[in-house]
Amino acid sequence: MNFKITTIPGDGIGPDIVREGCRVLESIGKKFGHSFAFTEAKAGGCAIDATGEPLPKATLDACLAADAVLLGAVGGPKWDTLPGNLRPERALLGLRAGMKTFANLRPALMFPQLAAACPLKPEIVAQGLDILIVRELTGGIYFGDRGRSADGNSAWDTETYSRQEIERVVKIGFESAQKRQKRLCVVDKANILESSRLWREVSEAMKASYPDVALSYMYVDNAAMQLVRNPAQFDVIVTSNMFGDILSDEASQITGSIGMLASASLGESGPGLYEPIHGSAPDIAGKDLANPLATILTCAMMLRFSLGLSAEADAVEKAVSSVLDGGWRTGDIAGGAQDRAALGDKLVGTRKMGDLVVGALEAL
Ligand code: NAD
Repeated sequence: MNFKITTIPGDGIGPDIVREGCRVLESIGKKFGHSFAFTEAKAGGCAIDATGEPLPKATLDACLAADAVLLGAVGGPKWDTLPGNLRPERALLGLRAGMKTFANLRPALMFPQLAAACPLKPEIVAQGLDILIVRELTGGIYFGDRGRSADGNSAWDTETYSRQEIERVVKIGFESAQKRQKRLCVVDKANILESSRLWREVSEAMKASYPDVALSYMYVDNAAMQLVRNPAQFDVIVTSNMFGDILSDEASQITGSIGMLASASLGESGPGLYEPIHGSAPDIAGKDLANPLATILTCAMMLRFSLGLSAEADAVEKAVSSVLDGGWRTGDIAGGAQDRAALGDKLVGTRKMGDLVVGALEAL
């Protein structure tokens, strides 16, 4: 099959990691008989430099015309002093809104080979860590009415959700749970927030359609605690925009390796937006130090969720796992100074890590 992929390398390490993701997709194409046509577009700081705006219309058009979009990362110190509406990060909000991707799927998965990087106690780590957080992405307080009083001494932001906005994202939560351990937890603050009470009402009404999924509810403050106390209790979490933002960062940190974590943003139809969860890492940009595995695993999510290629997605994940089994590490997953020294030539850079995954794919 032929697929059109729009790539947005962005800033910092973005171009390095997206290049490796594309090489892996090409290798999948060769192995399984598909072809990927890549169109590169600009967003973020590099787009501000080139056109004066973080998300040029041509970029959004190229995204909407694709089967899927692969984004590296945007932002960096060069653009930090710009006003909010002209900052590189504005491109992310514009892409999510323009592509109508209302659900952000973030797996927090710990590879057993990297268990030592997990900051939790070994007895907790031993139970495994494999959670999928589904975060509502285009509603809630980040998009609600906000403002300042005339004297500037008070300010407000508003959390608003409609029944339909809740329904479509909770549906993705239920469907994802059906493909996993069949447990869905709605995280909210229903003891205080009226909008949370609507989330519960809508979820309750939907549960009869998913009799194979066990539905539960948890307050967000408790969920933040349970994620570090007993993460194995969670399978799929579905939650609002702001709670999901915070909890998914917490969940990713407890895996111990930001350079390993993928994400997908999906709408009802149309292309999905795929990006690693980390930022543009300006401190290591252009030094061949970035871990490309988060982007490569993001490509696996793209194969599975947007292109309907599950066997191909499994192959990418298997290849990554076998490279880790072989003891190969980039700096961010290499452990402390002693572990690094012991790694010798198995401590590798961005390009070499990409080579290894491509080699492992060919050998499968
Ligand atoms: P960051 O994720 O870029 O970096 C945090 C730390 O993790 C740094 O030490 C970095 O070197 C390391 N790191 C991140 N990704 C890595 C990888 N693949 N391999 C090895 N190490 C990696 O977060 P930050 O420093 O808070 O932000 C830097 C810039 O990125 C800012 O301009 C921020 O606004 C932007 N940002 C963009 C996105 C996005 O595009 N989706 C997300 C978060 C931050």
